[in-house]
Amino acid sequence: MSGEILASSSGVATAVGQFQPQQERGQRAVFCGLTSIIWMHRKIQDAFFLVVGSRTCAHLIQSAAGVMIFAEPRFGTAILGDRDLAGMADCNEELDRVVAQVLDRRPELKTIFLVGSCPSEVIKLDLDNAAQRLSREYSGGVRFVSFSGSGIETTFTQGEDSCLSALTPSLPQRESDQPQLLVVGTLPDIVEDQFRRLFLQIGIDCVEFFPGRSSTDLPAVGINTQVLLAQPYLGETLRALQGRGAHFIPAPFPVGVEGTAAWFHAAASAFGITKERVEASLEAPKARAIKALSAYRDELAGRRFAMLPDSQLEIPLARFLSRECDMTPVEIGTPYFDATVMEAEIPLLPANVSWIEGQDLDPALSRIRETRPDLTVCGLGIANPLEAEGLRTKWSIELLFSPIQGFEQAADLAELFARPLRREAKLEVGAWS
Ligand code: SF4
Repeated sequence: MSGEILASSSGVATAVGQFQPQQERGQRAVFCGLTSIIWMHRKIQDAFFLVVGSRTCAHLIQSAAGVMIFAEPRFGTAILGDRDLAGMADCNEELDRVVAQVLDRRPELKTIFLVGSCPSEVIKLDLDNAAQRLSREYSGGVRFVSFSGSGIETTFTQGEDSCLSALTPSLPQRESDQPQLLVVGTLPDIVEDQFRRLFLQIGIDCVEFFPGRSSTDLPAVGINTQVLLAQPYLGETLRALQGRGAHFIPAPFPVGVEGTAAWFHAAASAFGITKERVEASLEAPKARAIKALSAYRDELAGRRFAMLPDSQLEIPLARFLSRECDMTPVEIGTPYFDATVMEAEIPLLPANVSWIEGQDLDPALSRIRETRPDLTVCGLGIANPLEAEGLRTKWSIELLFSPIQGFEQAADLAELFARPLRREAKLEVGAWS
């Protein structure tokens, strides 16, 4: 399929109203939303993710979570067989049987997510109804929530957006007049703890995280809730929370020193806390992060990078690499551009760079082969062929599996990008180069 540019602009970014990325539509090469289960099941520790799908779906999450072999995982696949797909079996009966097996083995579970897939959607298996029916049958002891992880027209981080937006109606109504900060997006526990401490020091003491570590400890939401996104791919969840009366705090994402500081400042400003107090509270972690990051700047400065559309983290990461690591963007692709979510990131974008929303794989690869950036951030399936052509790559999915947010992680994030370049330097005499 040939590439089709649907709209274009100068690519000079100054403000949201003026910023319009080029748009492409064509062949895609991304993982589906089931992949989100890997990081979400680690976070929500009393939940089970039951994929209702095919053997392909089972293989996908088993491969993505290969490290779980020795653990008792909290995800599984109810495999739809030929009889299910041909409509010869009652899928709901099968589903009930599998759910009973899971709960028999793991009676401590408090929530079961029924995760839809391409096959369950093709046969129109109504998992919303199944979730309601099972919730009634288990009479409140276990919560059942359904969401879609199917992947034909989506990208892999949308699984988390679907999951959290499906969970939003279950959040209790908040009646308190006290302002509350709700940080939205899965964060590793260590990052959550760091952020909680810093919010307390700044003077924001009513802070909740969604999702939290327990599926039963859901934050209440209401008109005094201020939402601060920790991940940039949560547009649907944001709109669902706004539908519950919550207000959005536009902020850059907490990626890198600059992004993290701006994120805290945006939250503090919404709570009427002075800039001076925030700066005093952030001074020490910020100084540590700047020092740790400087070790990588020399390695990364002047290197050219491209991002193929994959994770929806591309815009904040490009901002970090260009502004804090002095790297030069060649082309930045993102699967979707949400102007509301990205409102505070746009003014920080480098000007005169090619920005593309959507994707068309072959023309994108042709451009990469032509411009030959020092580093291409892309999906797993594309990385190996590019490596074979002597181009260095970074798997974008790794940025979801690693703690990258916050001051303490800024240098680790730079290290993730420096590693392939360092490896190339070490292997300079080998067949690669
Ligand atoms: Fe399953 Fe569809 Fe994902 Fe393939 S793309 S693993 S069929 S949900």
